[in-house]
Amino acid sequence: MALDPVIKEYGKKFIKEYRRVLSAIKRYDRIAIFRHTMPDFDALGTQLGLATWIKDNFPNKEVKVFGDNHVTFTPRLYREMDSANQTWFKEPFLAIICDTGNTSRIADPRWKKGKFKIKIDHHPDVEHYGKISIVDTSAAAASEIVVNMLLNFKGNYFISKEAAFYFHSAIVGDSGSFKYSSVSRHTFAIAGELVSTGISVSEVYQKMFLKQIDDLKVTAYVLNHFEVSDKGVAYYVLDAKIQEELKITTERGKENVNLFANIEGINCWCSVTEDVKDHCWRVSLRSKDIPINGVAEMFEGGGHAQASGAKLNSLNDLPRLIEELGKLF
Ligand code: AMP
Repeated sequence: MALDPVIKEYGKKFIKEYRRVLSAIKRYDRIAIFRHTMPDFDALGTQLGLATWIKDNFPNKEVKVFGDNHVTFTPRLYREMDSANQTWFKEPFLAIICDTGNTSRIADPRWKKGKFKIKIDHHPDVEHYGKISIVDTSAAAASEIVVNMLLNFKGNYFISKEAAFYFHSAIVGDSGSFKYSSVSRHTFAIAGELVSTGISVSEVYQKMFLKQIDDLKVTAYVLNHFEVSDKGVAYYVLDAKIQEELKITTERGKENVNLFANIEGINCWCSVTEDVKDHCWRVSLRSKDIPINGVAEMFEGGGHAQASGAKLNSLNDLPRLIEELGKLF
């Protein structure tokens, strides 16, 4: 079937890079796929989708995925990451790093040992790395770019249902279920290609967003304790003690942040979660339409216009964060 013209048109800007990526994949028998720490749907879905695609189309290659597993998505949605001892990294391998703007956020430092490195990402290009770099900040998800690339490869390649399942979860995750302003006709065209492999869209959603009854208690806590500033900045704080009481890990503190999306009078919203291990407070920021990544960068973070992450060294810095966000509105 002919490729949707919108997919072809999008691919034109990276066609030279795509050719080089395909030739690198063909050249290396050992390939490792990396992505950012504290992974989300896009990080894991893109990583596993690409690994699955390579294995499906080049069965003789050894393909590994590295990084931390997710506290709840593994193994419900994503298979466990691979392990490998130091000797594996001594032989030449191709390292493909997805969904990661800066090298300090790559989940496994052994990406550096890759003989040839490729970056594919949709975060602002704050650090240029890799022999090949494919970055498009207008893409809703890193997966959207990767799937465009696979569809534009010249050759007799296919996307399996398993790979499509991973890629689709990545797009759904980073596009806020196709609700963010980053969603374009191209995003839908790519999703259409993935759905055409026969995946069940409802199964993807059910696996992604499955909750436990205890999770409702966390939601109830957040709804009972959030604050909204006079500029419409909503936030909630989960300190270590309350995380213990609610039986959640630090990584899960941000799970309720989008309760505040689409509420009249709320312009942006954040979760603030104490991280005892790292002696800091992790902030997830989301915004209706005004970009908040500039403020995230002021607080040791970064990310996208409408979804960013940041870090506070002390809760005493919270009023300043809320004030800086308030200045945007
Ligand atoms: P989170 O709130 O952790 O879900 O992050 C929202 C988005 O911001 C994701 O796309 C992250 O990859 C990105 N992000 C989070 N923290 C950082 C950071 N320190 N630097 C750059 N991007 C980040």
